[in-house]
Amino acid sequence: MKIEEKTVKTLIRQGGPSVFSWSEIYLNPYQGCYHNCMYCDGKSEHYHMHEDFGDRIFVKENAPALFKKYLKSKGFQPVHNKEQSAIDEFFPSLKDIPDSKTTPKSIITVGGGVCDVYQQPEKTVKMTQELLEIVYDYQFPLWILTKNDLVLRDIDLIKKINKESYACVNFTITLHDEKAQKIFEPRASTTPERFEAIRILRKEGIHSGVFCYPSLPFIGNTDKNIQAIYQSAKAANAEFIYANGLTLKPGRNKDEFMSTLKQHYPEVYPKYELLYGNNNKYGQLDMEQAQKLGLVWSLHRGYKFGYELGLDYTAKRFVPEGRIKTNLLLSELLWRIVYLKGSILYDPRYEVNAFNEAAKLAENSKRDFGELKDNDFSDIPTNNQVREVIKEFVKTGKSDYLETLEKKSYEHLVDKYYSK
Ligand code: SF4
Repeated sequence: MKIEEKTVKTLIRQGGPSVFSWSEIYLNPYQGCYHNCMYCDGKSEHYHMHEDFGDRIFVKENAPALFKKYLKSKGFQPVHNKEQSAIDEFFPSLKDIPDSKTTPKSIITVGGGVCDVYQQPEKTVKMTQELLEIVYDYQFPLWILTKNDLVLRDIDLIKKINKESYACVNFTITLHDEKAQKIFEPRASTTPERFEAIRILRKEGIHSGVFCYPSLPFIGNTDKNIQAIYQSAKAANAEFIYANGLTLKPGRNKDEFMSTLKQHYPEVYPKYELLYGNNNKYGQLDMEQAQKLGLVWSLHRGYKFGYELGLDYTAKRFVPEGRIKTNLLLSELLWRIVYLKGSILYDPRYEVNAFNEAAKLAENSKRDFGELKDNDFSDIPTNNQVREVIKEFVKTGKSDYLETLEKKSYEHLVDKYYSK
């Protein structure tokens, strides 16, 4: 493995919150990933990464400086930085700068961007740790996604972040079978090590969930594998788990995966040729072929097992400082509804869209939905069904509609796949 430094011009990526991640700011100090997973989407030419993605890792040496510059440009001040506090005492006028107590914050993901932030170079380079120090210093809520239990090295720092704000450490876990896991994720922590890390983090009061994807058709996407992962997640006290399928973008991503498959799973190779023979530029499989091959969506299998085990399908939303609580929790509710109606029940498009538009409205509204009076609800630009759901939630903090929908989704999946 070669580790090289590089100076980058940009570091921060912004993204809208969704039911899969409530985070809105993403940053990653590495380029390339030593874990070298055989299905890694990051290897695709689409992302303009270097060819030896798994063996040459770039460290963005100016990542901490860029991160601080970004936070300052948004008006945030460090909370724990003693030097800054001393200056404030000498020059009280500096306190006129908007401070972090009032400026709205967002959850920051240290990770994402198709490179693992706790891959092996982090052991010595400690760039991720430095970014977490900044998250702590500015009292921001944190989200981490990794496949490496090296994250436990920073548990004390993560605990401090969680105590003052919020920290959620998530693991991607796709394969329960040890042999399969080693073939497709050769350098990541083993599946038992990742579950053990979740158990430890949860014991320390840190939030944690599992992303069970990409779930490999006919290998990971089996009842046996998905059920085992969901049961282990439950045993480790994970708070949520979400499963989804595999994308294979034409080029390096698909070529490398297919040659691994040919070598280790020759019996399913022809099925993949059919599934991904469409060479969709986003890597999506051919729906018609999937249907012919009787492929059950991992999202559906996962939802069923999660429901039976009482495991949530997404993280409960944390409301960052300075944000309108009712509005963000309402948008969480509406996005959950969109997910169930759109991805499981396949309700009519116009119905799903109405909830989706209302979720965006709640997310972005400057008006506090919690302060609406009875006759204000008719002004919400949506249909009566959505309006009633909003009204019930604003008035009671609960939603019978969502509860019924979750049960209906479960029954629908049992009926569709498991009743014969
Ligand atoms: S851990 Fe993630 S980014 Fe790293 S190689 Fe595996 S799939 Fe790619």
